[in-house]
Amino acid sequence: MKILIVDDSLTMRRIIGNVVVQLGFSKDEFDEAEDGVKAWTLLEQGHYDVILTDWNMPNMNGLELVQKIRATGAHLKTPIIMITTEGGKGEVISALKAGVNNYIVKPFSAEVLKEKLDGVLNK
Ligand SMILES: [Mg+2]
Repeated sequence: MKILIVDDSLTMRRIIGNVVVQLGFSKDEFDEAEDGVKAWTLLEQGHYDVILTDWNMPNMNGLELVQKIRATGAHLKTPIIMITTEGGKGEVISALKAGVNNYIVKPFSAEVLKEKLDGVLNK
């Protein structure tokens, strides 16, 4: 299993990484990227089973990243969970339309992340 964690906040990447480890994954099962550009580079170089991405980031934001992933490349069908403070109905709809499989609003609990990860991985 390989997970890509995308967030411009180092603290948030640590928090998500810790939760992922709590859920039983090992540290070499996830990579981190600080924006959509870095994430895209990693996605072009390797295979990921699930992508966890923030929305608000410099260079290429999460929504742009999702649109790019769903338009081209090897991860067209890879599950994407957006983890963001943008919890408004309009934002959620935009993200789902862009091709996000599930959505988590910050702050979130380990249980919620587990639930959503199980949901996309067991499809
Ligand atoms: Mg951010």
